[in-house]
Amino acid sequence: MALKIPNKKTPIAEQKPEERIHNFKEVVFGYSLEEAITEANRCLQCANHPCVAGCPVGIDIPGFILALREKDLKKSIKILKDYNNLPAVCGRVCPQETQCEGVCTVSLIKDHEPVAIGKLERFVADWAAEHEGVEEPPKEVEEKEKGKVAVIGAGPAGLTVAADLAKRGYSVTIFEALHAPGGVLMYGIPEFRLPKTIVEREVKAIEELGVKLETDVVVGKTITIEEIRKEFDAIFIGTGAGTPRFMNVPGTNLNGVYSASEFLTRINLMHGYEFPDYDTPLRIGKRVVVVGAGNVAMDASRSALRLGAEKSMIVYRRSEKEMPARIEEYHHAVEEGIEFHWLTNPVEYIGDENGNVKAVKCIKMKLGEPDASGRRRPLPIEGSEFTIEADMVIEAIGQTSNKVLLSAFPELKLNKRGYIEADPETGKTSVEGVYAGGDIVTGAATVILAMGAGKKSAQAIDEYISSKKKK
Ligand code: FAD
Ligand code: SF4
Ligand code: SF4
Repeated sequence: MALKIPNKKTPIAEQKPEERIHNFKEVVFGYSLEEAITEANRCLQCANHPCVAGCPVGIDIPGFILALREKDLKKSIKILKDYNNLPAVCGRVCPQETQCEGVCTVSLIKDHEPVAIGKLERFVADWAAEHEGVEEPPKEVEEKEKGKVAVIGAGPAGLTVAADLAKRGYSVTIFEALHAPGGVLMYGIPEFRLPKTIVEREVKAIEELGVKLETDVVVGKTITIEEIRKEFDAIFIGTGAGTPRFMNVPGTNLNGVYSASEFLTRINLMHGYEFPDYDTPLRIGKRVVVVGAGNVAMDASRSALRLGAEKSMIVYRRSEKEMPARIEEYHHAVEEGIEFHWLTNPVEYIGDENGNVKAVKCIKMKLGEPDASGRRRPLPIEGSEFTIEADMVIEAIGQTSNKVLLSAFPELKLNKRGYIEADPETGKTSVEGVYAGGDIVTGAATVILAMGAGKKSAQAIDEYISSKKKK
């Protein structure tokens, strides 16, 4: 192909590693208008645009990029918002390399990187928010007479279903257990990757569509599912997978051993990083070991470093190749000096005479045949045990379903893994009029997959209520 486009993505400004390890400010600064247009010019506007199929909410990617190229930011944000209610969030945290950018035609040209679709999406969303008059105020549908829908959980799945149904003329109420909406976007992902003002801004836009948000309401405790079923025509459950899993090795109960869920919630939702302005004290070790190598592990290790750890280490039982974290986050972690121990698994946490953790006993691993996940199975190497000195351990080995609602709703059929059984195309569950999507159906996954599930369920709920009302 004799195409003349720069082979690399337009570089983006970032905070220097030596500075950012001392603060929680966002690492990536974002493009200027000129840089965004330079990057937009790398898009070939290809007729088959595979990027669109690679996006779980099917954004018209060539459309929003073309409008940006023509400096029509009004049109560009309108296109984005027609498909995605959280573009500034997705532009920052989507695993673009395996979604839209993973199939971009430009990456098929020898030695070429794909178009930086995520960074452009983030640019357009931020520009529209920062420049008055670029984005039309959301049109609230005045007569919300099509029906009443309850959404349980204000994470990406619940917010998407709520926004899409409000746009279609439904009266929607979201019930959220925590005091702040956003789900993992608020309590899990740290400020240096996703500033909370960005989440608040996009949630506010959803509320402006007429969506009612009731926070501090735990469905199954504060209010029963029966009460909700009596009042609403349909229900969507998007309660997520926030219950931590543990290694269950000896020493788990020692002081200084945490789950990443607790550690990150204290930092993000409870503003622990702003102590003493916020009353959430945190005890940070000098030598921190984080177990796991997904996004959660990267977030925990990088947060520990910012909070004063002298050494922050990651131990992972597989190799770098199998690491589930986003590649950008891994690169940032390496730049910041996080130390990686690949093919290493903890077998015991060793305590001192006061019950505080002082070391992690590990064993070296090797990779065997592929397991059910398709990744090569890690096997311990006998006699290879060694210890790492550590006064804090954070386990980030995965989460499972949030249980409160599930135990209060026994009619709801669950699968063998304890998640809600729901049709992948509609979110329909075993109970009529009840739909579900996001992590509570798939297990811990991604923001955009949860949003894609929310979109499909909005369509299905619309069809369900419309046909019921016709009868
Ligand atoms: P959640 O975001 O978990 O939201 C569920 C909501 O339901 C919560 O607010 C919860 O409080 C509420 N709830 C639960 N039970 C009840 C109840 N009984 N009553 C009322 N409300 C209830 N994905 C990416 O794509 N990119 C990333 O970079 C990334 N990083 C991550 C980092 C961390 C630390 C974590 C934990 C996850 C990360 N993920 C990332 C995964 C992603 O955030 C999730 O897949 C996504 O948030 C799932 O959305 P959800 O709407 O299904 O659930
Ligand atoms: Fe790509 Fe995610 Fe944006 Fe879709 S929402 S275009 S997958 S970055
Ligand atoms: Fe542009 Fe890449 Fe999408 Fe083609 S696949 S339209 S080059 S972003």
